[in-house]
Amino acid sequence: MQLNTTLSKMPAYINGQVHYLLKTDNDFLKINDCIGREFSIEFVGEKYCASCGNQFTDLYRMGFCKNCFFTSPMAGESIIRPELSRAHLDEEDRDLAFEKGYQLQEHVVYLANSGGLKVGVTRQQQVPTRWIDQGAAQAIILAKTSNRYEAGMIEVDMKNHVADKTAWQRMLKNEDAEVNLLEEKERLAGLLSADLQHFVCDDNEIHSMDYPVEHYPTKVKAINLDKNAEVKAVLQGIRGQYLIFEGGGVLNLRGHTGYRVKISF
Ligand SMILES: [Zn+2]
Repeated sequence: MQLNTTLSKMPAYINGQVHYLLKTDNDFLKINDCIGREFSIEFVGEKYCASCGNQFTDLYRMGFCKNCFFTSPMAGESIIRPELSRAHLDEEDRDLAFEKGYQLQEHVVYLANSGGLKVGVTRQQQVPTRWIDQGAAQAIILAKTSNRYEAGMIEVDMKNHVADKTAWQRMLKNEDAEVNLLEEKERLAGLLSADLQHFVCDDNEIHSMDYPVEHYPTKVKAINLDKNAEVKAVLQGIRGQYLIFEGGGVLNLRGHTGYRVKISF
C-alpha cells in the first residue's frame, strides 16, 4: 500500500499496549499493524510550516517557519520554559487570549523513567500523552498546580536534583535505569523549597507504558531525512515518537514535522 502525508506527531492511546496512529492525507493508519513488515518513508522534498501551512525550502524549529517560530503563541517562550509563563499576571507574550487558555489550567509536574529518571511539566489533560511522546516506561505525578507558572517553578527547583531531558538513545535501547519512582518522589519532594511543598500531591499511582516493540536495537542511529531521503527496512517497533527499524535506524517523526513523504508497506 502507498500513502501520502505531511509528517506530524503521532496521536497515541493506551489499550493494554500503546497504540499509535499515523495521520495520512485522508485517514489515520494504525501503524502498530505495520510492525514486523518492511516499511518505507520517502521524503519528497517539500516542507510545510505547522502553523501557517505555507511551503518552505526549510523550516526553522519545531516544525515552524522562521516567522511563525518568532510570532506564533504555539512557539512562545513559556511553551519550552513554563517558568516564564505570565498569563496569570495578565501579561501578554504573543497572544494573551491564547496564553490564558493554555497556561491557566491544571498542570502536573511528573517524574518519569525514560532511559533514566527525569522531571517534566505538562497540562493535566496531556496525561498520559506527554509520557508516551517521551517514551517513558513509567511515570508518577509529583505535584499538581492550578497554572503553568507554578508547575514551571517546581520544575526549575527540581532541575537542581534531577535531569529534565530524555536520554533518548538509552530509551530506544530499552536501557531504562532501575528507578523506584515512589522513593524518588519522596526523596525529591523533601528537597523542594518550602514555599512549593503544598503542591506535592497524594496521588502515588505509578503509570506504566508498554510500547509495541518486537526487538530493541543494541545500537541506535538517528535517521535524518534531509541527508537520506528514503528509509526502507523492517519496522521493529515504536516508542516515544520514534519509529525503530531493523538495523538500529530510528526516525523521530516529531523532529520531521512538516516533511512531505510517501509511505509504502
Ligand atoms: Zn509559518
